[in-house]
Amino acid sequence: MAVLAEVKKDYGKIKNFVNGEWIDSKTSKFMDVVNPATTDVIAKVPMSTRDETSAAIEAAQEAWWSWRETPPISRGRLMFNLKTIMERDFEDIARIISQEQGKTIDDARGETRRAIENVEVAAGVTSLMMGYNLEDGAAANIDEEVIISPLGVFGAICPFNFPGMVPFWFWPYAVAAGNTYVIKPSEQVPLTTMHMVKLIEEAGFPPGVVNLVNGREDAVNTMLEHPSIKGISFVGSTPVAKYIYKKCGETGKRVQAQGGAKNSLVIMPDAKLDASVKNMLASFYGCAGQRCLAGSNMLAIGDIAEPLLKKWLDESKRIKVGYGLDESSNMGPVISAAAKARVLGYIQKGVDEGAKLLLDGRNIKVPGYEKGYFIGPTVFDGVTPDMTIAKEEIFGPVVSFMRMGTMDEAIEFIHKSPYGNAASIYTQNGKWARDFRYRVQCGNIGINVGIVAAMAYFPFAGAKGSFFGDMHGQGKDAINFFTDRKVVITRWY
Ligand code: NAD
Repeated sequence: MAVLAEVKKDYGKIKNFVNGEWIDSKTSKFMDVVNPATTDVIAKVPMSTRDETSAAIEAAQEAWWSWRETPPISRGRLMFNLKTIMERDFEDIARIISQEQGKTIDDARGETRRAIENVEVAAGVTSLMMGYNLEDGAAANIDEEVIISPLGVFGAICPFNFPGMVPFWFWPYAVAAGNTYVIKPSEQVPLTTMHMVKLIEEAGFPPGVVNLVNGREDAVNTMLEHPSIKGISFVGSTPVAKYIYKKCGETGKRVQAQGGAKNSLVIMPDAKLDASVKNMLASFYGCAGQRCLAGSNMLAIGDIAEPLLKKWLDESKRIKVGYGLDESSNMGPVISAAAKARVLGYIQKGVDEGAKLLLDGRNIKVPGYEKGYFIGPTVFDGVTPDMTIAKEEIFGPVVSFMRMGTMDEAIEFIHKSPYGNAASIYTQNGKWARDFRYRVQCGNIGINVGIVAAMAYFPFAGAKGSFFGDMHGQGKDAINFFTDRKVVITRWY
């Protein structure tokens, strides 16, 4: 199978997009954007200054006055335009994701589809934003109604693992609802967002409605402090999520902060072995384990452990690791040298703490990509609940195989985790599945599903250390986050 062509080899210096114009940052600080498979530098991304970030926020505030008065049906129509343009550019978007992030082209196409689905749902803003009323709601001849209205400027601070999808959990809903927006992509993967913003511009959104600022601490802190920003959507690691949540509390902003994860997949003795293993491969190894919904702990209940482990090892050895744009690859690299060093550190910790390393992906060689940040599928057996690799987020293709006697034991283990992003059960027993769904304290729950990524019309949930805030992204919940309620009481004479 062919290695697909990159959209461009080199994207040069990335610009910001403010008030409808592509602007060079005046900062002297730039970071390299690195293709993690080839280690080629493919762009330079500016660490925009506080002033530059403020200018983007102020442009969004200025644009808000007329955008707020643009009827919802017209705002929705621009989403239809954008969908058409994104479909046209579908393959380019996917290839840029694969090139800068490292995931396989199939994973990148899946991500692109998710982004488009959010635009499709946001296009239905006329229905999503309707208020409600009650005739004679207060007394005879006194009606009460609730009007759902936009608030002003919102912003997103995004992670490296889903550059195409994560901004789309938020901005389409915010903007369709009549707000204006500032996106701050991850400095590690700014190219996909840059391309998407070009498409947003082409779709005809007025200047200032969607703005793009690249950078890190200065850009983020300016967004957290600027009085015009009404709310922040953050997705990233838990320590930063906590910081964002705290700062937004201090500055009085709405906040939805999605954090890290440590997801357990529970395989009951009656699970369909072949189908479960096939499904879990994508969960543990998709995106090289760098999904917040990735499986990390595999909890085998009772006597399924031996046949499961055998099949798992057989299938794991078949995973072809390579460049994401090589269509024959099943798994790409991790994002950076630092990420690779972190994951290798966890593998060493697993060995040091006494887990049995049955499949070691540390020394994998990928022909033609010898410098890339690759890690092969790695499987530990004999992992116990107290081990570091059972507790901490590894964010790499590392499987901690754990043997347990009952589902209760598994749920107790899951409840001790500080994270609550996702958990799955594999079983054919309805009562077990229902008990698991009912009891497990996680936001996203899978029953015979290993990647619990809800469609755009459902929220992307999360609990405990995986989510700080009140209202999730996507669909109706996102509309609620991005809008206010006005209560009107009318006495009719
Ligand atoms: P990260 O926390 O390092 O970075 C996220 C964003 O915060 C980036 O835009 C970055 O520039 C910014 N940032 C980082 N440190 C900062 C600081 N000190 N001050 C201000 N801004 C800062 O996360 P990441 O490595 O890009 O993403 C991986 C993490 O995201 C994992 O923990 C993963 O589980 C999590 N994640 C969670 C979800 C979810 O829905 N819960 C989804 C995707 C990823």
